[in-house]
Amino acid sequence: MQKNKKFIVAPNWKMYMTNTQAQEFVHSIDQSLANKAELMLFAPATAICAIAEETRRKGIIVGAQNMYWEEEGAYTGEISAPMIKDAGGTHVIVGHSKRRTLFGETDVEVNLKVRAAQRHGLTPLVCIGEEMEERTSGAYHKVLTQQIVAGLIGVRAEPLIIAYEPVWAIGSGQAATVEQVRETMGWIRRVLVEQFGGAGCNIPLLYGGSAKPENAAELAAIDSVDGFLIGRAGLKVDSLKAIIDQVP
Ligand code: PEP
Repeated sequence: MQKNKKFIVAPNWKMYMTNTQAQEFVHSIDQSLANKAELMLFAPATAICAIAEETRRKGIIVGAQNMYWEEEGAYTGEISAPMIKDAGGTHVIVGHSKRRTLFGETDVEVNLKVRAAQRHGLTPLVCIGEEMEERTSGAYHKVLTQQIVAGLIGVRAEPLIIAYEPVWAIGSGQAATVEQVRETMGWIRRVLVEQFGGAGCNIPLLYGGSAKPENAAELAAIDSVDGFLIGRAGLKVDSLKAIIDQVP
């Protein structure tokens, strides 16, 4: 974990949480919990505005789960960086594995989105990760390098967050092992330093993929892990609290 920085805990709510549920969730996060970690809630776009005020008061960051790269236009169904900012969001997930697999998002589109986010003053949280067969065949270093290099062309090292999410660990209940996370995130850090020079050392690196109360302590203790991107375990305040209680 990076020195002098809080451990990042970032629930990705996906397509869960009505405005009322999101407000109740934020309401039941007490201030000491919000203070302990750098809490970032990636809410459905519809709920950002509804929780913007209370999260701001509690020092909780709010972000969107996706965006389009144009500022405005006839892009039915899309939302832009200025819209996210106007609703109260400061961060945005780009390239989540579900966007890549279900909606065909490519590295080129990821790159356009990351650049647009930075241009408009949003912090992009870029997800990368390999499929199971890429891990077992040993191709995962190449896959991750490609995702980083292609996804981050023309991107600044700051503001930027990277989440390593092995696709096979997401939603499976089975996180990567401590050794896999240590080795792979060490590799990712080296690629970031090659790409950005010394500034690559300061990009926060999150782990995602079945992070939960049962494995939070051992995963959070890995040197190269600066935080978690969390799906299922981030939908209930109790499990979120149990995770935050165990992070450094
Ligand atoms: C995710 O969807 O980004 C994720 C990490 O989900 P889960 O924690 O449920 O594996």
